[in-house]
Amino acid sequence: MPSIELPSPDASILARRNEIIRDLQSLVGVHCVIADEDGRRAFETDALTAYKRLPLVVVLPSTTDEVSKVLKYAKVNGIKVVARGAGTSLSGGALPSEDAIVVGVSKMNKVLEIDYENRFARVESGITNLAISDAVGRGGFFYAPDPSSQIACTLAGNIAMNSGGAHCLKYGVTTNNVLGVKIVLMDGEIVEIGGPFLEPEGYDLLALIVGSEGQFGIVTEATVRILRAAEGARPMMIGFESSAKAGMCVARIIGSGIIPVAIEFMDRPAIAVCEDFAKAGYPLDVEALLIIEVEGSEEEISDRLAYIASIAEELSPQAIVVSASAAQSARIWKGRKAAFGAVGRLSDYYCMDGTIPLTHLPHVLEKISEICARHGLRVANIFHAGDGNLHPLVMYDANKPGETDKAEAAGAEILKLCVSVGGCLTGEHGVGIEKRDLMRVQFSETDLAVQMRIKSVFDPDWLLNNGKVFPLDAVAAALARREAELQRATGAAAAA
Ligand SMILES: Cc1cc2nc3c(=O)[nH]c(=O)nc-3n(C[C@H](O)[C@H](O)[C@H](O)COP(=O)(O)OP(=O)(O)OC[C@H]3O[C@@H](n4cnc5c(N)ncnc54)[C@H](O)[C@@H]3O)c2cc1C
Repeated sequence: MPSIELPSPDASILARRNEIIRDLQSLVGVHCVIADEDGRRAFETDALTAYKRLPLVVVLPSTTDEVSKVLKYAKVNGIKVVARGAGTSLSGGALPSEDAIVVGVSKMNKVLEIDYENRFARVESGITNLAISDAVGRGGFFYAPDPSSQIACTLAGNIAMNSGGAHCLKYGVTTNNVLGVKIVLMDGEIVEIGGPFLEPEGYDLLALIVGSEGQFGIVTEATVRILRAAEGARPMMIGFESSAKAGMCVARIIGSGIIPVAIEFMDRPAIAVCEDFAKAGYPLDVEALLIIEVEGSEEEISDRLAYIASIAEELSPQAIVVSASAAQSARIWKGRKAAFGAVGRLSDYYCMDGTIPLTHLPHVLEKISEICARHGLRVANIFHAGDGNLHPLVMYDANKPGETDKAEAAGAEILKLCVSVGGCLTGEHGVGIEKRDLMRVQFSETDLAVQMRIKSVFDPDWLLNNGKVFPLDAVAAALARREAELQRATGAAAAA
């Protein structure tokens, strides 16, 4: 049995389900509302599949105005709302609750404007990540953040989770590539923040929205930076006898001043699984493999790869393989990008997402192995080495009683370890429910209180994505304080 506590549904909302469905149908049309059980099942979980809840009802609006009508209605009636993109979140961020309306943006997936001269594209937020690069690719441009789930995940989810990807080392993650959003607040107000220009005046509200995990409003449109694609790019693979040497190699490459587009790491178990799946030509006799990609003209690529090879040579690598063709490069990346799916063929897995300062890599990898062995579980490590974002995949059997608990316990220990060496709980997958109860490992009560006050500014009744991100007892205490303040204010007003 998974062990994370979920809030109990509000019985008064459940009792009004039929009325709520009818109201929503009249607001946005019957075709936008999914009320039958089979239809709702498709929305009952995200990629953290151990947790499932059948939503009250699902609404798939086609316009910002429709989203606005739904939120306004939910606010007036005190109904919770969970925003949803493609449901690929790995932290339970898109998990619904039985008393919540799921508002999915998947129908809102149009490209609204492409401006190559000013290097931006304006899109509806339900567009998939890959579809943005596909749309601007014909002009020789691309959208940089590239989560491995990019074929399915939406820009809306990427913005909510501040998603990253293998190629974010050079170009930054979502927050560095989103210029503006249109967001619907819980009372239905439609707000535009930022736009196709740099650094708007005033507070940087855009930075607050990106990474806010569907807690502040529903993003319906975004303006994103698009970049001209480099002339070419090529990966190389470097295998080492130990993770320590691979870690040292990464530190030396970055320290030399070269910023490759990507530096990815796989340990021996991960290499074996991915090779079996993708036939990428990964060396199987090494303990740690780096995939390093550089870009530029043919000459620049050759120079940079040769320089990186010379740095690696000092650490006596067991293998250096430079991709010799576009087909080989595609295979190398296919193996890496399919890594989660490849592990999923063998076993259920719990994907952790801590970050660490790079110099702690050997120590942390050793400790991760120890932790998993102590819980009787296997682990494969695959991660964005250039920016120290670890993804240990803790393997377990969900059908064996107690194994999910063990995986969650091992995962919690791993994240505490990341924080203890100066890292943090999440690099790119968000807090969701998965890391909610670990927030105190990273933040003091004061830190949490400040963050919750910001949430209250956007959503005073805590209707948006309730039960996520903040420990439930901290939220209950904050709401009780707010209630007491309101009563004091009402009493003072009455007395005056
Ligand atoms: C195989 C696999 C590989 C992955 N690889 C990566 C990776 O390389 N890098 C990475 O960062 N992540 C990765 N992920 C995690 C996941 O794909 C990302 O978190 C992604 O951004 C989620 O997008 P989504 O559209 O599926 O959002 P959902 O899962 O539907 O929602 C995610 C969060 O966004 C909120 N949300 C959704 N829509 C809106 C909206 N319109 N307005 C406000 N909030 C909203 C939800 O409430 C939820 O909190 C991977 C997942 C899988 C399954």
